[in-house]
Amino acid sequence: MDNGKPKVAFFDFACCEGCQLTVIDSLQTHLDLLDAIEIVQFREAMSEKGENYQIAFIEGSCTRQEDEERLHKIRDQADIVVALGACAHLGGINALKNLHPLEDVRKWVYGDKAAWYDTYPARPIGAVIEVDAFIPGCPIDREEFVRVVKALLLGTKPPIPDYPVCVECKLKENVCLFDLGKICLGPVTRAGCNAICPSYGAACEGCRGLIPNPNENAMKDVLAKAGLTVEEIMSRFTMFNTYQLQERMAEEE
Ligand code: SF4
Ligand code: SF4
Ligand code: SF4
Repeated sequence: MDNGKPKVAFFDFACCEGCQLTVIDSLQTHLDLLDAIEIVQFREAMSEKGENYQIAFIEGSCTRQEDEERLHKIRDQADIVVALGACAHLGGINALKNLHPLEDVRKWVYGDKAAWYDTYPARPIGAVIEVDAFIPGCPIDREEFVRVVKALLLGTKPPIPDYPVCVECKLKENVCLFDLGKICLGPVTRAGCNAICPSYGAACEGCRGLIPNPNENAMKDVLAKAGLTVEEIMSRFTMFNTYQLQERMAEEE
């Protein structure tokens, strides 16, 4: 019998499934949210596979032809599609393989069985189907997941910041890593994680994606002044944002 609650399903593509684990962790302490929805499909947490759902959370990147058919099927069913985590939102670390010949990548991973496995360059799911919202991060932030779901249930815009990590870092009165002789991508990276990495002395590596209109040239100048070579700078930028950088270069050509 229909209980009137919004039906929610979770799906995974190429990824480590760490974002789904974060969802499970988050729901354990937000039983009110669990009570407000009905989860009908969530491979990592239950065996049922309901095909009637309104909200689909998709984790992982599109890396094979057959992924496209599955993504379109989910899009056809769901009223709202949410990209869950950096792999789905950006292509994320999966897109690092796009920097190398695919044949080499297949051999590195699958050795003499490379021919058995179909693969093509990794893309965010938004490159294949229309996406209504995204939850950034590798992995996602457990509290941000709750805020986004509540916003979707209320029919409002999910509260994802579009300012850089530096804003949160400064509000926490952290000493800037550059002043400690370290490097950081906080100036060009989307906030929302409460600057967790620099708060513990680790560089922001850009897992939440670039802010809108990032000043990448200024960022590259700062990294060069901090002693990084061009190769090292690109390795920092491409950790999570290879797909976006390659798309931009293709547009500029
Ligand atoms: S975004 Fe990170 S934690 Fe989430 S599935 Fe991808 S690799 Fe795993
Ligand atoms: S440590 Fe990183 S995030 Fe914090 S202020 Fe410096 S550059 Fe920005
Ligand atoms: S500080 Fe940077 S790398 Fe760390 S969680 Fe935030 S966006 Fe991701």
